Amino acid sequence: MNTLRKMQVLSDSAQYDICDYVNHYKKSDINLPGIYNATGPDGCKIPLFKTLMTNKCVNDCKYCINQSKRNFTRIELDPNELARAFLNYYDNDYVQGLFLSSGIAKNIDQTMENMLEVVNILRKDYGYDDYIHFKVIPGASKDSIKRAMFLANRVSLNIESATSDGLSDISSTKDYNKDILKRISWINSISKKKNSMMCSSSTTQMIVGANDETDLEVLSRIKSLYKNYDLSRSYFSAFSPVEGTELEKKEECNKERTSKLYHADALLNTYKFDLNELVFEQNNQLSLNEDPKYLSALNRDIFPLEINSASFYELIRVPGIGTISAKRIMSIRKKKPFIKLEELKKLGVVIDRAEPFIKLSGNYQIALDNY
Ligand code: SF4
Repeated sequence: MNTLRKMQVLSDSAQYDICDYVNHYKKSDINLPGIYNATGPDGCKIPLFKTLMTNKCVNDCKYCINQSKRNFTRIELDPNELARAFLNYYDNDYVQGLFLSSGIAKNIDQTMENMLEVVNILRKDYGYDDYIHFKVIPGASKDSIKRAMFLANRVSLNIESATSDGLSDISSTKDYNKDILKRISWINSISKKKNSMMCSSSTTQMIVGANDETDLEVLSRIKSLYKNYDLSRSYFSAFSPVEGTELEKKEECNKERTSKLYHADALLNTYKFDLNELVFEQNNQLSLNEDPKYLSALNRDIFPLEINSASFYELIRVPGIGTISAKRIMSIRKKKPFIKLEELKKLGVVIDRAEPFIKLSGNYQIALDNY
């Protein structure tokens, strides 16, 4: 099989990795294998080459297209072949970085060494100094993680589930505490001593809907990772059944569920909400119909809030007011109080959302009952 065909197969096999805002479904306009648009924090498109080194895997994760029990053609790119293929894309300005992951062909150590070899070739032999995201293999040694963090700009390790029992339901070969949580804690401790190391952040990813874990369990785990391990971001991948796996008949996860989890995650991570500020339904799931911030606001007794005196903490709890507009409000009101909704609209406040929750110079804008 030629390199281009291998790249086609292996980049398709990388579909479950969605870190870096890279969505498998956001293919680049350039019609070449493995090029996906990541989305930068300001919304700009960043084309990356996203691939596995191999789709061979000794693990049996029940949701995964590459799991050991599935019967399909297994291939691999050798480190030199992959490095050259990537550089060909990079030198032609098709991509701005590499997202490197892998199945486990023989064992974890060998897989990490192969991946490190690709990165070493790029950095040392070819002097490549642009973006690399390195997907750490669960169970990897501390030394190999350290070397990956020295060479890559970002590392991530997929946590897959919220609990140890949840992981046991979907994989018999991974140990939640030993292979995953312990490694995430190593990544955190290494990054704190980073000195000249390049790696600037770590992320993780969870598969949602492959087991029976609730949104409360998912968000409790994510909140604890933010708090204890300085995680910069978490990603949620909606389970979708794959033919030939044990879960092929399981219902697909509703995409609205992951959308609501992302909203709730932003409240926990960016807005620093406590978990108990979020509202869950009786089955401990988020509502699929309502925005988590709006539901949270309905359950708070701080509203309606006077815009001219509210704290930053209070302002960012108003639906329709984000962190940027809250900062703008705090800066402008020092010079002159707000009187009209129009003045807030100019700062980026979504008036339709915010109106029932605010007062302007003592005037309540619209009663929630009339909303
Ligand atoms: S470790 Fe699990 S999720 Fe990763 S490639 Fe192997 S089977 Fe798939």
